[in-house]
Amino acid sequence: MDILSMTLEEMTESFKENSIQGFRAKQVYEWLHKHQVLDYDEMTNLSKSLRDELKEKMPIICCSYVGKQVASDGTVKMLYSLPDGDYVECVVMKYKYGYTICVSSQVGCRMGCAFCASTLGGFKRCLTPGEILSQVYIAQKEIGERISHIVLMGMGEPLDNFDNVMRFITLVTDEKGINLSMRNISLSTCGLVPKIRELLSKHLQLTLSVSLHAPNNEIRNKIMPVNKRYHIEELLDMCREYTKETSRRISFEYSMISGLNDSDECALELARRLKGMLCHVNLIPINEVEESPFKPSSPERVKRFSQILEKNGITATVRRKLGSDIDASCGQLRLKQNKGKGDLSS
Ligand code: SAH
Repeated sequence: MDILSMTLEEMTESFKENSIQGFRAKQVYEWLHKHQVLDYDEMTNLSKSLRDELKEKMPIICCSYVGKQVASDGTVKMLYSLPDGDYVECVVMKYKYGYTICVSSQVGCRMGCAFCASTLGGFKRCLTPGEILSQVYIAQKEIGERISHIVLMGMGEPLDNFDNVMRFITLVTDEKGINLSMRNISLSTCGLVPKIRELLSKHLQLTLSVSLHAPNNEIRNKIMPVNKRYHIEELLDMCREYTKETSRRISFEYSMISGLNDSDECALELARRLKGMLCHVNLIPINEVEESPFKPSSPERVKRFSQILEKNGITATVRRKLGSDIDASCGQLRLKQNKGKGDLSS
């Protein structure tokens, strides 16, 4: 395992195996995770010879900063390159309660949602825990502000990279490191039911978001291939169980596509399905992706849909659309970079 993905205990063990004094592990761990220093040469309390030894034996595998785009509303989109030449992106948004970062968990995605840019180039690979962490660490340095909230809503399906994402969560909430609150982490899934069950067994205090985007199998099948494997009934049963056992409210993401999932009937059906569940619906007019035929619902339609949900006892918010002038939706920036159309300042 790479050093940035190790817990302090694992690092100590690994140092001993490499005949490096155990207490050095604590120093390196603090540099990496408390001070977010990702370069051995900046670890000034280590000797030059030890730094050289570490560089050779335990290279730090992480993202490198390529550039950023800043939207008129202050949203910052960061583009990183990976050691093997691929790109990943993350977005930093400013809210009243602090800075939130949206991180990627995979390069590409294999879920195949019809409206999503992340899936267009297919799936390349899962990110290591350290590569996910470094998105947070580098962004914090670049914007010069403390990041307090994390959403796993960038490129990739986090539950399709389960072990690495769990390890990322362990490290990012470690009080010996950046020490984020578990309650400030949201994980979003397209609905991999067995993996939601596995997540439940860990009883974490994070927020689970589920990308629903449709009130029934007929519509969901058209836009989300995962629904053919795990039908909406099975998914919502799992969600019910999840909220009952954790007492945590689930957020349902609902991207509104004109003429497809945004009718009054859809709103009523959705309200019926979710009745009595500890949940909340986030309505987001879909972000247009060049390659896809879907158009966003009009603001009036979104408002009406939201009102029908509310009238039927389901709380809903219309998500503030941040950063739409900088292609800040799932997979869009990387897509441009890969096509040679990137427009970044570094
Ligand atoms: N794979 C995970 C998390 C990543 S996507 C998931 O599916 O939940 C984060 C959210 O953005 C998901 O709800 C996803 O469905 C949504 N999304 C993807 N492309 C979008 C687009 N073009 N417009 C609006 N929402 C989009």
